[in-house]
Amino acid sequence: MKKLRVAFYSFTSCEGCQLTLLECEDRLLDVLGAVEIVRFREASSYEGGEFDADADIAFVEGSISTVHDESAARTVRSRSKKLVAFGACADIGGVNAIKNREGVETARERVYGPAAAWIHSSAARPLSAVVPVDAALHGCPVDKDELIRFIFAAAVGAKLPDPAAPVCFECKLRQTACVFQKGEVCLGPITRGGCKAICPAFGSGCDGCRGLAPDANLLLMRRLLKERGLDGSDLARRVDLFNAAALTEDQRRELIGHA
Ligand code: SF4
Ligand code: SF4
Ligand code: SF4
Repeated sequence: MKKLRVAFYSFTSCEGCQLTLLECEDRLLDVLGAVEIVRFREASSYEGGEFDADADIAFVEGSISTVHDESAARTVRSRSKKLVAFGACADIGGVNAIKNREGVETARERVYGPAAAWIHSSAARPLSAVVPVDAALHGCPVDKDELIRFIFAAAVGAKLPDPAAPVCFECKLRQTACVFQKGEVCLGPITRGGCKAICPAFGSGCDGCRGLAPDANLLLMRRLLKERGLDGSDLARRVDLFNAAALTEDQRRELIGHA
């Protein structure tokens, strides 16, 4: 059987999602037995053109934050049968979009100082803002097991169902003590699950890196915080850590009380 041609590309990102695949050491040989990896700069000595491969599936990591990102995304889309937003940056804008809230110019000056004029960057956007996307692997970084399952499913022409239940669902299954009981904020009730509720399991509230769960009840979340006597003032900062580009202004207003 002809192996699936798979490519990994990276735009504005920390490349941590690509690293997640490389960290699957004990399963990498199985992956290589199931698919042919045609581009993977982080793990390759290939020195040719970066975006010039035809692929059955392209995993694209990183948000669209530069003109180069945008044109490369269009090239990759045109050469790939399926495009997967690979990780929070590509899926929802992720941490790169924090700058969107304070303004790109301000952020650029803060980071680059007098050299700011030399640097081009735009508001960070998810991949889907520029090209059609066929699927997404969520999280910052993506979940190892989910990634491997996704690749093996794709290799036999199957599609992995996208987790729809919020983080709370897996958290309850793990019987983790709820961090709300410690008076802390957790975005688990409105965040898409699939990460095995790892942050609450280690004692921290969820920061929402997998994006909003489908049908997330933002009003109820706001009410829940109020009932627990929690100050919602840090909620905007919490939500913007990963979701600054993901929420519409209406959703922000519903959740935080102001846009
Ligand atoms: S989603 Fe997180 S780990 Fe993946 S590239 Fe973006 S910042 Fe890095
Ligand atoms: S800790 Fe967070 S994810 Fe777990 S049950 Fe409580 S609110 Fe839900
Ligand atoms: S618990 Fe929340 S922040 Fe932690 S990995 Fe899961 S979705 Fe991301």
